[in-house]
Amino acid sequence: MPDVMSAEILLRERGLRVTPQRQSVLRLFLENAGQHWSADQVREKLLPNMPGLARGTTYKVLDELVRGNICEELPTPQGTAIYGLRLAPHHHFVCRACHRWFDVGVEGLDQLAMVGGPPDAVVDEVAVTFLGTCGDCG
Ligand SMILES: [Zn+2]
Ligand SMILES: [Zn+2]
Repeated sequence: MPDVMSAEILLRERGLRVTPQRQSVLRLFLENAGQHWSADQVREKLLPNMPGLARGTTYKVLDELVRGNICEELPTPQGTAIYGLRLAPHHHFVCRACHRWFDVGVEGLDQLAMVGGPPDAVVDEVAVTFLGTCGDCG
């Protein structure tokens, strides 16, 4: 089972103890690269194989994966955070119709400069979100 292995290796690499819950959540994201889901969606997908998976546990595991720099947590206008794999920095395109998030690259990022903002602010990351309509919805 190569996917189980890579989830296990990744957890160890990021200094996280390997638990069945962490492995299952991470494997789900590794097997569905580029997908972004809410905690409830993650739980729904895992429930058939992990009937005892509690809602709180799902949130806890996702939070641990975010803090271990494996996953990203993205706030949405709907109020529910969604989660995705973030093994490398990337940006997003969000479809306004189906609310799906897609990982994208950005060209010309080095030309961006912040205008205004709090005095003496130090920028350490730029996250670009493109909004529009995906091909399925357009
Ligand atoms: Zn769409
Ligand atoms: Zn993403």
